Amino acid sequence: MRILSYQRMSTEDGPGLRTTLFVKGCPLRCAWCHNPESISRELSAEWIGVRCMGCHTCVDTCANGGIVAEQESVRIDNDKCIRCFSCVSACPTGALERKGEDASISEIFAELIKDHAYFGADGGVTLSGGEILLQSEEAAELLRLLKESGVSTAVDTSGYCNRADIDRVLPYTDIFLFDLKLADSARHEEWTGVKNGRILENFEYLTELRREASSKFGLWVRTPIIPGATDDEENIRSIADIIGDKADRWELCAFNNLCRDKYERIYKDWNFKSSELMTRERMEALVAAASAAGAKNVRYTGRTRMEEERA
Ligand code: SF4
Ligand code: SF4
Repeated sequence: MRILSYQRMSTEDGPGLRTTLFVKGCPLRCAWCHNPESISRELSAEWIGVRCMGCHTCVDTCANGGIVAEQESVRIDNDKCIRCFSCVSACPTGALERKGEDASISEIFAELIKDHAYFGADGGVTLSGGEILLQSEEAAELLRLLKESGVSTAVDTSGYCNRADIDRVLPYTDIFLFDLKLADSARHEEWTGVKNGRILENFEYLTELRREASSKFGLWVRTPIIPGATDDEENIRSIADIIGDKADRWELCAFNNLCRDKYERIYKDWNFKSSELMTRERMEALVAAASAAGAKNVRYTGRTRMEEERA
């Protein structure tokens, strides 16, 4: 499996205290993506400016001209970089980081099961993206091992996948965290690069399965609340219509801008770099709009502007 990172003690990726595995590769291109380093399936080296002391050891180490010296910094030339990661090993300050690795399922399982002690009755492991279901065969095998060890499992998906991918992980998944970002397909394409038809079909598929007595998995919907993109009440009401009474819970996930640095590291401009956090009042108004439209068990997650200012 091509993985990106582990996040331990996570409280925002499903019930309880969890360890989340992030993987590389995503079919969507959400303009607000909070994990831009997970979008590409390619391995990469990243430069973290605040750690760099400008010694240019990396420039001398790279035999491919993959690092260009600049006055007080260096820049990775991804056209020349062949992902050998010699520069990462040579850098004395950890200013170069490798993003992504290929690991066997047993290696990943061994890493995840170390955290078993803190999962408790509600927590467990969440497999997240990029898009985890692009690697559904490996994900199914990992989920199976976790289930056999008594670990509760969650799959966090954009829903943009084949039905066969869902079928593969279904027997070993306790809860799906399913993104519904924008109800209008044209707007969905404008902001994420793809129409939402396949996502809505997969949502319907999961909800149909839940009506069968033999299916006992949970379903949480998540909607990123992004200023100017998804945060209008019309979108929320339309998503409420889609969800109806079919989900156990609906989370409105407040935009955060902590990923600004990540975009700088991959030399990309980010349209949301100056966007402020949502206010608590705005998030509460959206929860109220969702509830008024008939949605059940709606809540918002993430830091709001007021909490950020207090911190
Ligand atoms: S080796 Fe590390 S510290 Fe030195 S210039 Fe390169 S990135 Fe910066
Ligand atoms: S990963 Fe290898 S090829 Fe790429 S910049 Fe570093 S040393 Fe050069």
